[in-house]
Amino acid sequence: MRRLALVLASALSLMAGACGGAAGGGRDGKLQVVASFYPVAEAAGRVAEERAEIINLTPAGTEPHDLELTPRQVDQLEDADLVLYLGGGFQPAIEKVASRRDGATIDLVEALPLEKGAEEEAGLDPHFWLDPILMEKAVERIQKALGEARPEDLAEFERNAATFRAELRELDARFEKSLSSCRRKELVTSHAAFHYLAGRYGLSQQPIAGLSPESEPDPRRLADLTNLVRQRNATTIFYETLVSPEVAETLARQTGAKTAVLNPIEGLTREQLDKGASYVSVMGENLAALKDALGCD
Ligand SMILES: [Zn+2]
Repeated sequence: MRRLALVLASALSLMAGACGGAAGGGRDGKLQVVASFYPVAEAAGRVAEERAEIINLTPAGTEPHDLELTPRQVDQLEDADLVLYLGGGFQPAIEKVASRRDGATIDLVEALPLEKGAEEEAGLDPHFWLDPILMEKAVERIQKALGEARPEDLAEFERNAATFRAELRELDARFEKSLSSCRRKELVTSHAAFHYLAGRYGLSQQPIAGLSPESEPDPRRLADLTNLVRQRNATTIFYETLVSPEVAETLARQTGAKTAVLNPIEGLTREQLDKGASYVSVMGENLAALKDALGCD
């Protein structure tokens, strides 16, 4: 009899283990939130803190445009209590699964006042998070979605969101002040990620590639940029941490400019995360790089 009880007990604990390991369904009573890439995951984590488990579908150090999903990630997307993603062709694989969900699903590109990209064929430009004020609006929307998913934690979400939003407004004030008197306005970037940032602070984005870093730089575009860099005496060609700097380096060599990182925060590397880097800290590094490149007082 004792032996049977033991066998039963271990079988029960095995079953409990199997249930606990299943995808979604509020493990530890926490809300299961799936975020499509880093800035959205950080925003959701800041608002929810301990009250949600946040799954970021884009692995650290990976460029998020056109992310492919593993079967496990498809399950996570289907089972989550809340999915936060960017539509408009930014990550079509996620968009496809998100569109067939029944549960709470927020497309932040649809939720925010965004504009079309500069290229004729382009849809809405998704890169809102590089403008601290649009990022603040996204945080507000995420807070609302979390509150709807878990009304009993609404006050907590509001408090956490208020703290993060104050940091974003302070960041905006630093950008505004630091970029108000610069000798140059041209921002030569790898891909067209900085339209909203440039618009907010009176700069002019001159991207080598289009809305996606994978789009081929057109030779005519490169020739135009070479002329523009020479005419306006641009000192810096910006490149990104998650894509090859090759084209930026070629343009710099041809024009005598230097290269520097301007991080589109489409993902942080494992090393950055281990050092405690965040959206606000990397934006601070971006501001220092901009001041240097544009000759701001
Ligand atoms: Zn991008």
